[in-house]
Amino acid sequence: MERVHNFNAGPAVLPEEVLLEAQADLFNYKGMGLSVMEMSHRSKEYQAIIDETHAAVKRIYNLGDDYDVLFLQGGASMQFLMVPMNFAHEGKIANIIHTGVWSKKAIGEIKKLGLPVHLAASSEDKNHSYIPKTHTLSENPAYLHITTNNTIYGTEWHHDPEVQAGVPLIADMSSNFMSKPIDAQKYSMIYAGAQKNVGPAGVVVVIIKKDFLATAKEGLPSMMDYNVAAKNGSMFNTPPTFTIYMVGLVLKWIEAMGGLDKVALNNQAKAKYIYDAIDNSNGFYRGTVDKEDRSLMNITFRMATEDMEALFISEAKKAGMIGLKGHRLSGGCRASTYNSLPLPAAHALAQFMGEFMKKNG
Ligand SMILES: *Cc1c(COP(=O)(O)O)cnc(C)c1O
Repeated sequence: MERVHNFNAGPAVLPEEVLLEAQADLFNYKGMGLSVMEMSHRSKEYQAIIDETHAAVKRIYNLGDDYDVLFLQGGASMQFLMVPMNFAHEGKIANIIHTGVWSKKAIGEIKKLGLPVHLAASSEDKNHSYIPKTHTLSENPAYLHITTNNTIYGTEWHHDPEVQAGVPLIADMSSNFMSKPIDAQKYSMIYAGAQKNVGPAGVVVVIIKKDFLATAKEGLPSMMDYNVAAKNGSMFNTPPTFTIYMVGLVLKWIEAMGGLDKVALNNQAKAKYIYDAIDNSNGFYRGTVDKEDRSLMNITFRMATEDMEALFISEAKKAGMIGLKGHRLSGGCRASTYNSLPLPAAHALAQFMGEFMKKNG
């Protein structure tokens, strides 16, 4: 059976090479007579796997010894509460740039903790169709938190934001993690649920600057405490061993491809096929966000009626393309074009969009 063209928003497509490598190793990992899933996380073989995955994260983002990498559970959603629990203390205020559903959830968790939150900027006035270009911090900011790619609305930050010196910048990069080169040193913390760009669901990768980590609140419950995770090499409790192994394979694939410059070129080419199909459709397909802020990872568009959108999604499925329905909160259509989506899949979708328009336009 052929594989489908998978435009799912997450969990999402994985590289075929990675799936085949995992398959080959699944029954008997490197002649050990067992699979990675069955290994003790305290074994030296597993330690080698997590160490290599940790090292690959740092190599790919050019990070030195001043950064640590953690593999945690609870998804990006758990980070929405761990970040303020650890860093919004001693009267310091969480500052957030609100750009969509995920930042809204991050704000909600801060409020549930009974902590103050300051909206440094928001795109809510225009239904999150753009990235705010300026922001205003509160007094005594703990940090500024941004969402670098808005998975549901289809906007993306195309530059690392400028922040007042001394204010830690924290980014939820779940849906554009390792999709392009960034100036990672600008960030005190980056986190990403693996299931969009770098692996299966089950782990969140946290990159954290050690001097920022040292400012975290002490005495938090162990599983909420970044320092506990760091001191225990992400093994305070049993980590999601197989997922971390899979992330390691995806990172190896990224490096084999030539690193983030190559990944970014490929992502630009894929997005261009589809945005061109939108822009050359005379309004048959309508992009939903400002062109300069368009996401290269989640391409959102609408058509004249919801019936037409439903027909598009079902016809696309017959043509072997799945995952094109927009998020239930925003409606419309969405094509997710993460790192692992092959270029021919994006080309096939663009072609299909042209044919569908000819038939139904
Ligand atoms: C998917 C997503 C999340 C939620 O991730 P979970 O791992 O399901 O908690 C958070 N932020 C962004 C930007 C996302 O795309």
